[in-house]
This record gives sequence, structure tokens and C-alpha cells, in this order.
Amino acid sequence: MEKKTKYIFVTGGVMSGLGKGILTVSVGKLLQTQGYTVEPLKIDPYLNIDAGTMNPIEHGEVFVLDDGGEVDMDLGNYERFLNLSLSRKNNLTTGKIYKHVIDKERRGDYLGKTVQIIPHITCGVQDWIKSLGKDKDFVIIEVGGTVGDIESIPFLEAARELSTREDVCIIHLVLIPTLDAVGEQKTKPAQHSVRALGEIGIRPNLIVCRCKRPLEDRTKRKLALFCNVKEDDVISDHDANIYEVPIILKEQKIAEKILKALNMKHNGSDLEEWKSFVNNLKNTDKKITIAMTGKYTELHDSYVSINEALNHARSRFKTEVDVKFIETTDIEENKIDVKTALKDIDGLIVPGGFGSRGTEGKIECIRHARENKIPFLGLCLGFQLACIEYARNVCKLDGAATTEVDKNTKHPIIDIMEEQKKIDTKGATMRLGAWPAILKKGTIVEKLYGTTEVSERHRHRYEVNNKYIPLLEREGLIFSGTSPDNNLMEFLEQPNHPFFIATQAHPELKSKPLTPHPLFLGLVEAAIERNKS
Ligand code: GLN
Repeated sequence: MEKKTKYIFVTGGVMSGLGKGILTVSVGKLLQTQGYTVEPLKIDPYLNIDAGTMNPIEHGEVFVLDDGGEVDMDLGNYERFLNLSLSRKNNLTTGKIYKHVIDKERRGDYLGKTVQIIPHITCGVQDWIKSLGKDKDFVIIEVGGTVGDIESIPFLEAARELSTREDVCIIHLVLIPTLDAVGEQKTKPAQHSVRALGEIGIRPNLIVCRCKRPLEDRTKRKLALFCNVKEDDVISDHDANIYEVPIILKEQKIAEKILKALNMKHNGSDLEEWKSFVNNLKNTDKKITIAMTGKYTELHDSYVSINEALNHARSRFKTEVDVKFIETTDIEENKIDVKTALKDIDGLIVPGGFGSRGTEGKIECIRHARENKIPFLGLCLGFQLACIEYARNVCKLDGAATTEVDKNTKHPIIDIMEEQKKIDTKGATMRLGAWPAILKKGTIVEKLYGTTEVSERHRHRYEVNNKYIPLLEREGLIFSGTSPDNNLMEFLEQPNHPFFIATQAHPELKSKPLTPHPLFLGLVEAAIERNKS
């Protein structure tokens, strides 16, 4: 029998940045632990078709999916919490839905009708949601933006329309500020946002309150009175580590309340493994420092997945990880020397990046890590720069470079991929998504992964220039993993070094709380060893 899918919308009031994404996936996680299947959808009410062209300083990291979709970084949390592998269909933007409808109009699918926001865009959104929900118990939809924004109106209208025909539960997330002077939790902004929601015909089933300290009973009473919900349906989402949110919400029986609102069975659930992951994050017995070079050091959101991959790995070892950001342009401009910049660190990560800024400083850092046996993990650009460093300093190829930075270099160790040469637009045109690699037997990466066949996600235009491989290998560099046709170098490592590994891929994108990524486990373990000595 076909499943009757139920729909949960998570909307946001008062202001952005309250953690709607975390609320969405925490609810999803709790429903999963009750034995239900959950499909998430993130709606971003901007005109970009996807996040691929967006600046990480302004918008945080671009997350890449197996199918090559370049999506909002919230999808990273979706995958991490729900342990799913999502597709580009799980992220809908205004641009995407308009393009979808306009393409249909051009094909003549609307048979001469006037095509309008209501009903054509709003029906398009509902169809999108329903097609995601096929064979699933729940679709859980996070409506980006804040109620009252012009941009989110068509999506909220779609939610309202859907609720007239299907089983829909609306969760509204609001901010409850505390007035420091009197220490009182204030509900007025929340009341206004629930009213704004009411004006477009939507009544929330549950109100979730972001607040500093747990929500007080009298605040709950007040909200219930003014916002048309039962006191029991006002839930506290107070400040905590993101991974604690499912635990906080479980204590307040949020899944039971949703299931009740949707006339579904409550099966009981178990969050024990997750709880011990969270406990190990908090109850640590050691501390290491990992340096991270980067261009976007001003915004830590640009490296969310790496930070989370480190969290997953550190929980296994019950260790704190202090991430020290290194602005490598300071090294280039001689404001600080590399030795001082990397003093007292236990490991180094050189993450992905684009363009030339700071690359020379990053190469200096890699050299320092190689020569001083500091554990090193290079990701994408970090892999490419590790090749360049080796070419320059071990193979003595003066001026070796990537053509991304120096088009006329004598030694293009890293060069644009053949297939990329003919491309002249920027959106969704890189080598994207999951690609397989074969690991060489007996290498460190093979040991870490515990297999010779792996698949990792990619986002790049440049690659190792195969002309230079014989020389690099002769001088001792080991390319420990390649594409199955052996044509593209995917992993490298150094012998006689406690941990020096780099990959053309972005392994951080696949790390999960309960299944940390082997390369991050390897790095953290090596860094702990170094810290001991
Ligand atoms: N800029 C490099 C390339 O395009 C590396 C990309 C990355 O680090 N994601 O190949």
C-alpha cells in the first residue's frame, strides 16, 4: 500500500539565524528514531539557482552533494544529523522554481493560460514537495528567511494551500529575548511574528522558542494565551551545542506532539548512541591545536564541514580541538614568519580555496609541516599546493605553480582539467559530486579507509599535471589513490612522516557524528600523538 505522506513545515519569526536548520533536522532525527522515514527540503528564497556561485564570506560554505548539486550549507547539517545522502532536489530556491515554471511555460505546458505566482509557482512548490515525499512517512520543509519577508510569501502560501488538502504540521521558531536589566523573557516579538503568520492564513501547531536559558513557565503561559496554542505546545530551544538540540527537544516530547497532531503512532525512541557522542564532546580529557590556513578566516561558517568533521573525530578520542586560523597573507608579507605562526600546533589543515590570495603562505606552511613532521591534511587546493611544494623544494623545480595562479609558469604542476578548458560559465560547471577512486594497497590511506575502493565528493577545475608524476614519484612522493582509469591523482602521502596526507576531494563533506571520516580520525590521532611527545 502506498504511504500517506505527512508534511512538516518549519518557519521562522522575528529574525534570521535562530537555528531553523538545526531545529528542522533535530525534529527529523527524532522522527527517524521512532522508525519513520524522513525526507528533508531546504527552501532558500533567493534568486540564485543554487549556492555554487555564492561567496563563502557572505553565505558560508558551499556544500556539495553526491549528485554534484552545490547547495546551501544547511544541507550539510541535514546529512550529518539524518545520516542521509541527499540530492539537489532537497534544496529549492526561488530561482530554481521560477526556472522550472518558466521552462514549462516555454514548452507550452500551460496551454495558453496566464502563468502567475498563484497558482503556478505555489503549485510548482507543492508538486516539488510531494514528489520528494513519495514512499516516505514525512517531508520536513524548512522555509528559509523570516515570516514577513516578501521573498518567502509564495512558499508560505504553498504551505497554506497544501495544508488544506494534506496532513500538515507547522512549527514556528521564534526568538524570546531576555531583558538583562529585569531578567525577564519577553514575548512581544514572538507574538507579532505569530500574528504575521496568521495574516497569511497559517496557524502554527507548535511554537519553538530560541532563548538563552530554558523557557520559564510563565513565558509559556503568556505565549499560549496570545498565540493560540496550548501551553504544552510551546517548546524551549535554549542555547546549547547544536548536537544537543535533539536531546533537549526529546526531553520535551516534541516528536510525540507532532505525531499526535498528525494522528500518527508514537513508537518510542532511543537516542543513546547520539547521547554518548555528545557526552564525549563535552567530557574531554585532552586538548590539541590544529592550525587551519585560509582565505576566509574572517568567517568560520566558510569551513563548517571541516569543523564538524573535526568534532566527529574528536568525540571518538575525547579530545578538545582548538582550531587556530592562520592568515597566510601575513606570512607572505613578512608580518609573521611561518615558524612563529605554526608554533605549538599539533596538526595543520590546508583546506580548499580558489584564486591566488595567500597561496604562497600556504605553501610555506606545508613545507614547515613536511620538514618538521607535523601531521598534515590537505584538502583539494591543499592537495594541489602540497604537490607544488614538493616540486619546488624537493624536486627543485623553481617557479613550479598552478596555472590558476600563474598562467605562464615554467612548471605547471597543477593545470586546468582538459574538460574544463571549453567551459566559459561559472554556474555548476566544475568537476562536481562523488567520484570513485582506487587506493594503492599498503598505503596509509588504504589502511585508514580499510578498503581500496572509495568515493568522495569533489569541487574543482584543476588537477595534477600527469607529465610531472614520474619526477614527483622518483623523488619520493606517493600518489596513493587515483581515479579508476588511473588518469587523475586523487590522494598523496609522504613516507617517513607521521601523517602527511592530501586529497583532491573534500572528505569533510561525508563525515557524520557516529561515523567520523577516517582521514580526520587519522589526523586527530596523529595530532594527539604529537601533543604527547
Ligand atoms: N581552486 C582549485 C581548483 O579549482 C581548488 C578548488 C577547491 O579547493 N575546492 O581546482
